[in-house]
Amino acid sequence: MTSPALENDLRAAIRTIPNDPKAGIMFRDITTLLGSARAFRRAVDELVQPWAGMKIDKVAGIEARGFILGGAVAHQVSAGFVPIRKKGKLPHTTVRIAYSLEYGLDEMEMHDDAVAPGERVILVDDLIATGGTAEGAVKLLRQMGANVLAACFIIDLPELGGADKLRKLDVPVRTLVAFEGH
Ligand code: AMP
Repeated sequence: MTSPALENDLRAAIRTIPNDPKAGIMFRDITTLLGSARAFRRAVDELVQPWAGMKIDKVAGIEARGFILGGAVAHQVSAGFVPIRKKGKLPHTTVRIAYSLEYGLDEMEMHDDAVAPGERVILVDDLIATGGTAEGAVKLLRQMGANVLAACFIIDLPELGGADKLRKLDVPVRTLVAFEGH
């Protein structure tokens, strides 16, 4: 859990665009948070605060906003960075997994040499909604033998149940700001 003051500061730095990409969806835009030096630093520091001082081999970030946050987190904890991308984007040999979106299926990939068996990995993305994307990433990392220490997100949409879905997979989940609804 984060302090109410921190949650309020971060919440104020996130822009909400109603009815985007479709009616009823509130798009939580973190570009405003990233554009604020103070909010960006606080968010990165707080995301991995429970694991500060522990050995972390890799930070895995989910395309595309997870790359920005995950890169900063990796630097912060002196870990390597692993990109998890939509299919067909990575240049070397990959491993792939299908995952569920709110409507339908998609596939994500990582390089087959990006994580060594037993490496301690933290997963990072900007937001968890239904948890389908993060669940796919956890399964892909575990398929490669990674020890997934935690999954960290700035934003949680608790009504969609994603964080609970990851906890059921025995992945500790860290989120900093919760918003009601979709
Ligand atoms: P999910 O797989 O349902 O947990 O969706 C998570 C992914 O979709 C993340 O990569 C988010 O960036 C994106 N996403 C889902 N809902 C929203 C939202 N309301 N605002 C911004 N991004 C969202």
